Amino acid sequence: MTLAAGPAVSERAARVYRDAIVIDMHNDLAHRMLEDGYDPNVRHEPGFGRDRGQTDLPRLVASGLTAQFFAAFVDAGCAAARSDRSWARAVAALDAVHAFVRAHPDRLIAGRTSHDIRRAKRESKVAVFLAVEGGHAIENSLDKLHALYARGVRYLTLTWNNGNDWAGSSIGVNGTRTGGLTDFGRRVVREMNAMGMLVDVSHASNATVADVLAMTRAPVIASHSCAHALNPHPRNLTDDQLRAVAATGGVVNVNFFALFLDAAFGGEAERIRAEMAALEAESLAGDASAGDEVRATYAARTAQRLQALPRVPLSALIDHIDHVARVAGVDHTGLGSDFDGVDGLLPVGMEDVTCLPRIAQGLIDRGYADGDVAKILGGNMVRVIEAVLDGGGA
Ligand SMILES: [Zn+2]
Repeated sequence: MTLAAGPAVSERAARVYRDAIVIDMHNDLAHRMLEDGYDPNVRHEPGFGRDRGQTDLPRLVASGLTAQFFAAFVDAGCAAARSDRSWARAVAALDAVHAFVRAHPDRLIAGRTSHDIRRAKRESKVAVFLAVEGGHAIENSLDKLHALYARGVRYLTLTWNNGNDWAGSSIGVNGTRTGGLTDFGRRVVREMNAMGMLVDVSHASNATVADVLAMTRAPVIASHSCAHALNPHPRNLTDDQLRAVAATGGVVNVNFFALFLDAAFGGEAERIRAEMAALEAESLAGDASAGDEVRATYAARTAQRLQALPRVPLSALIDHIDHVARVAGVDHTGLGSDFDGVDGLLPVGMEDVTCLPRIAQGLIDRGYADGDVAKILGGNMVRVIEAVLDGGGA
């Protein structure tokens, strides 16, 4: 275990971390591999930009993670572009992760059940699990849902920031659905329960979260969500939602994204994004023929301004984990970093996957018992994985 530069980790925290099964429920490395041509096999510096990132094989190995869930993220534009584009995009991302795992049998294990996690712990390897982020990936087909399972996918995030034909999103970009589950949406959840695929309510609208929690027959997860009580962002879960996820036996895995952690940072970031979007629209109106170039320029400028904002302290992340543990319960709290999906906008001291032991330190500093820290690091998700995934495939 090698830790990146930053606040020290005590011997006790290092031991708790080393002995624990550590699971991160959400990482967007697959998206980076497809979009930026980011090479996952070599070490990168943390930070933001095409050649920087939070995850790669050398740092995964150094991190001491036992299991990592990689999300095949399907952008909203895929649903809008062509009827078959979302599925193709999901499959491309899954194939990229499969190839990554196959290339490193000495370091990585294809994860399907809790047995793979325990084997990874014994053999000091990382169990790599697959997920799909954005229910539009199944293109309204239960056959495609089953095909995702056959390809190794073990959770589906019902929506991304775009709602789809059967589930509503907390954001509803481009005027997409923000309501509850349709009858077909209920069938999707029933099928997932039956086949042993985790239902992920991160990104879903309040109505969809309520509908899922009312009908699910298995523990539900939020793979990467923060606490609304600490920052009233629509992506964050209210205390009632935290308790309701816990009531299913599930786990809320806390997101590390500065914009969700800190209301002041989030407000400033939204202001910059709105300002830059207005300037971009003005430019596009002036010369529509240079559309792609203008969009790329403004994307880069926006990112540059966001990177320049004062960073959020690590305590903000620990605050959210602590809040979820107090409200949902210490048995229902976990980690969903969102590394490589948040433009490097992360708390100080949490720059990449090797920084995870600092969470053990942060919780110990708040008075958490060693056993409770181990539950939050991954023990709770092992319980859910045993309950939902181990009996699957029937
Ligand atoms: Zn997400």
